[in-house]
Amino acid sequence: MVTPIVDVSGLSSEHQGPVLTPLDAGYDTARISFNALIDRHPPVIARAATPQDVVASLQFAQSAGLPVAMRGGGHSVAGHSMCDDGLVIDLRLLNHASVDVERRQVIAGGGATWRDVDTPCVTRGLVMPGGTFDTTGVAGLTLGGGLGHLMGVHGLTLDHLVSADVVLADGTLVTASAGNDPELFWALRGGGGNFGVVTAFEFSLDPLPVVFGGEIHYPDTHLRQGLRLYRDLVEDAPDELTMMAYFREGFLHITVGARGGNPRSLRALDALRANLPIARDRLGMTSYLQIQVMQGDTPFGIRHYWKSQFTDELSDDLIDEIVDHYHARTAGSISSVLIEPVHGQATRVPLDATAFGRRAPGFNVSVLGHWRDPAGDDAEISWVRTGAARVAARNPEGGGYLNYAAPDEPQERVRAAFGVEKYARLLEVKRRVDPENIFRFNHNIRP
Ligand code: FAD
Repeated sequence: MVTPIVDVSGLSSEHQGPVLTPLDAGYDTARISFNALIDRHPPVIARAATPQDVVASLQFAQSAGLPVAMRGGGHSVAGHSMCDDGLVIDLRLLNHASVDVERRQVIAGGGATWRDVDTPCVTRGLVMPGGTFDTTGVAGLTLGGGLGHLMGVHGLTLDHLVSADVVLADGTLVTASAGNDPELFWALRGGGGNFGVVTAFEFSLDPLPVVFGGEIHYPDTHLRQGLRLYRDLVEDAPDELTMMAYFREGFLHITVGARGGNPRSLRALDALRANLPIARDRLGMTSYLQIQVMQGDTPFGIRHYWKSQFTDELSDDLIDEIVDHYHARTAGSISSVLIEPVHGQATRVPLDATAFGRRAPGFNVSVLGHWRDPAGDDAEISWVRTGAARVAARNPEGGGYLNYAAPDEPQERVRAAFGVEKYARLLEVKRRVDPENIFRFNHNIRP
C-alpha cells in the first residue's frame, strides 16, 4: 500500500509541535505502537504541543477530508491509535501532571502515562486508582474504564474524573463536567475515544494509603487448585484487598494490592501462603508505586491479540475450562490468561451514572495472545478466539471489557459491552458531537 503524500504546509505553519509525513525523519518512530501486529502508515502524524495544535489539526483534517486517530499512551491492543488513511493526533507531548494538594486534584495532559501522573501525586501523599502498569496511557484507560489495585476502595479510574477539556470534531474546545454538558461527560466515562480529543483530564485524589502486597507464584502442577483458592479468597475479600490472577510461562501468579492492615486481608495473605506449594513468594510491605511496576515491563515490539469477557462467577467448571485452555496453547507460547475482579466501590456506582457497561460484582476473564514471530499469527489468534468463545459460552448475555478487545471485535460485542439503553444514549451524544464519525478508530459508536 502506498501512503499518499499530503501537503501539510498550511498546518505546519500554525502548529507548535512537529507535523510529520512519511518524508520526515522521526515518522517511522512516531507510528510505532504497543501491538506489533499493527503496522500502519498514516499520511500525517501531528504531534500536538498545545490544545490549539489539536484545534488546528482537526480543522485541517476536516478541510482535507481525513478521519482522525488519537494517540495517547499508544497501548491500544486493538491498534486504534494508528490508522492508514487519516491524520493521527499524537498527544505524547501533552504529558504534564499538576497536583493541587489543597483541592486534592490533579490535571493530567491528554498524552500522559500513569508514571507521569502517579509520581507527582504520590510524592505529595495523594493517589488515584489507575491500571496495573505505569507505562499505559491515562487517556485510553480512563475513557474505557480503569481496572486497578485500588478499585475496591476507590472505584474505577473513570469514577475519579471531575472534568475533561475536549476538542470536538469541528474544532470547538469544551470542558465537559457534571455541570457543563453532562451528557458528553457521561459518555466520556466509558465510551472511549468516540467523542473528541481530550487535551486534559481533571481527577480527584485520595490520601495515599499504606500498601502491602506483591505477588505469589504457584507451580504448573497446581494451576487449578490455585485458581480455586484465588476465587474463594476474592469472594470473601474486603474492599481494601484487590487480587488479580494470571497464568504466565506455566505459573499461576496472584497479585495482591492491599490498603492498610485490615485483619481479613492479612488472613487472606496467610491463606495464600498456607495451602499450596509456592514457586515464589514476593508478598510483604510495599508501596503504591512498587505495586504499579511489580508485573514487570511489557515492551513494544511484541504481537498481541486479546479478548475479554465479564462473568458473574468463577465456577469450578469455568476454572477447569480456563486451565484446560491454558494448557492447550502452542508449545513454548508466552500467551497468558488474566483474571481481574470487579468488586467493592467499583460495583457500588449506579449503572447509569457513567457509560461504563459493567457494575455487577464478578470477574473479567481475558485470554491474551502474545508472540514475536509473524509465523505464529494464525495459531495464537485462533487460541485466543477459541478460549474467549469457551468463556463467552458460559455468559451468552454479557459483554467484555473493551479496553482489552481485539482489533476485529464484532459490532454486536461493542453493543453488548454497553447494553441496549446505554448504546442508544451514547449514539445520541455521538450524533450531536461527531455526526460524520471523524473519530472512528475506536470501538465505534456508529452514528
Ligand atoms: P492509545 O492506544 O493511545 O489509545 C487508546 C484509545 O483511546 C484509542 O481509541 C484512542 O483513540 C483513544 N484516545 C487516546 N488518547 C486520547 C485522548 N487524548 N482523547 C480521546 N481519546 C483518546 N486497562 C486497565 O483498565 N487496567 C490495567 O491494569 C491495564 N493494563 C494494561 C497493560 C498493558 C500492557 C496494556 C497494553 C493495556 C492495559 N490496559 C489496562 C488496557 C488499557 O486500558 C488500554 O490499552 C488503553 O487503551 C490504553 O490507553 P492509551 O492511552 O495507552 O492507548
